[in-house]
Amino acid sequence: MDAVATRHPRLPVDLPSGLLVDGTWTASAAGATFRVHDPATGAELATVADARAEDATAALEAAVRAQRTWRHTPPRVRADILRGAYDEVRRRRDEFAALMTLEMGKPLAEAQGELDYGTDFLRWFSEEAVRIDGGYQVAPNGSGRIMVMRQPVGPCLLITPWNFPLAMATRKIAPAIAAGCTMIIKPSELTPLTTLLLSQVLIECGLPPGVLNVLTTTTPAEVTRPLLDDGRIRKLSFTGSTEVGRILLEQCGRQIVRTSMELGGNAPFLVFADADLDAAVDAAMLAKLRNMGEACTAANRFYVQRAVAADFAKALAERFAALRLGHGLDDGTQIGPLIEPAAVQKVDRLVGDAVGRGARVLTGGRAPAGPGFFYPPTVLDAVPLDAELMREEIFGPVAPVIAFDSEQQAIDLANDTEYGLVAYVFTKNLDRAVRVSEALDVGMVGLNQGIVSNAAAPFGGVKASGLGREGGSEGIAEYLDTKYVALNVS
Ligand code: NAD
Repeated sequence: MDAVATRHPRLPVDLPSGLLVDGTWTASAAGATFRVHDPATGAELATVADARAEDATAALEAAVRAQRTWRHTPPRVRADILRGAYDEVRRRRDEFAALMTLEMGKPLAEAQGELDYGTDFLRWFSEEAVRIDGGYQVAPNGSGRIMVMRQPVGPCLLITPWNFPLAMATRKIAPAIAAGCTMIIKPSELTPLTTLLLSQVLIECGLPPGVLNVLTTTTPAEVTRPLLDDGRIRKLSFTGSTEVGRILLEQCGRQIVRTSMELGGNAPFLVFADADLDAAVDAAMLAKLRNMGEACTAANRFYVQRAVAADFAKALAERFAALRLGHGLDDGTQIGPLIEPAAVQKVDRLVGDAVGRGARVLTGGRAPAGPGFFYPPTVLDAVPLDAELMREEIFGPVAPVIAFDSEQQAIDLANDTEYGLVAYVFTKNLDRAVRVSEALDVGMVGLNQGIVSNAAAPFGGVKASGLGREGGSEGIAEYLDTKYVALNVS
């Protein structure tokens, strides 16, 4: 197969267009391909291979074969490959950032931000690879010894979403490499290009054949189900919607496959009257509008204490109204398009529902005509609690503001959701900060801060937001099994 994807004039780099199986870029067995589009214009960017079940089988055989030797590589070798990839992706930051902007839509400055965040996982896990440890202890009765070792879990299946094309891939690939696992990654069909480029860099940095296999496909269930049914995939790490996560968890039950599940969110953003209001508005800009609101961590519900609620909503609306929509590569663009027409329709439906129930539009609220899939930054106030956007992930640049009276009411409102990924809390009162952080049913809290993502921290949620953690020292543990050896010492 032609090694270079169909090249759009704005595509910043030659890309491999095939599937990566056993270290070789190949056409899909059926010869099928699909097109990737620029959401800002709808224009075609590239054509990539469209995998089917038989390609998954080939990738599985390669991953299983490579696992036999890869698990025995010195940790330092694995660390050096990751560190090399970190240096190389940073050196090529302009290509990677432009590619992310083109396939996903985010403004170039945000793509640069994702590049910093995403590559940090390569560096962090290069440092973790050489710190995998175990344990030794004298048994309580003194007659034996307890030895604990930590070993790679085995071949992994990694499934990623479209919203952070680099970071979601490195957050899984890097700890799997560090732990000594082989893997098959299946990126989103909407944004497969960044994963292809990243994989090419990892191969150039010395990753042996079969350790990383890439399946791009428009039929994800057909490709991943046989992998989970086979029994030799020992771990699934999935980031995506709760709906698909539930399906995959059921599939994993059959072969008792370990899982990490990073699913949807419905983040509350709590502002108490004693907070620094300007700082809270600054943080709200990030927590709501980073990635056009297309983030699992996006603030979905703004609960503001009644005394400052109107001021907060007004200040936020003024800042939102001043933002410029456009193509992410154009100078001055602050808000890019949503990923596809269906995303615009969903946001439109949620705003319409809230307004129909009595919410007031302070700014935005109406999608512009095409081309591209844009929705303007929107602030709603007087939002009734039964509006659908209070329960559903908006995944767009819409901020509903609701007034609350007491601390307990704020906590109850925040926890009134099936999700539990992240919450944001703004207060200058230390007692309250600790009390509220403890009372929130979430995996992460942003305390007087609008972004929590950090490669060195354990990222993840509770309830319907998922299982397991990515990043931090927890991140590599997800790819390691614990083995206990009982020593008989007389
Ligand atoms: P999605 O669930 O539609 O798709 C995610 C991935 O799963 C894609 O690669 C897709 O091709 C694949 N997929 C879809 N159906 C499948 C099936 N039946 N079997 C196997 N694979 C299947 O989600 P999305 O629209 O790509 O991403 C948005 C969602 O991801 C949001 O809900 C968001 O909150 C969530 N997300 C969560 C985190 C987190 O860390 N918690 C991070 C980013 C995104």
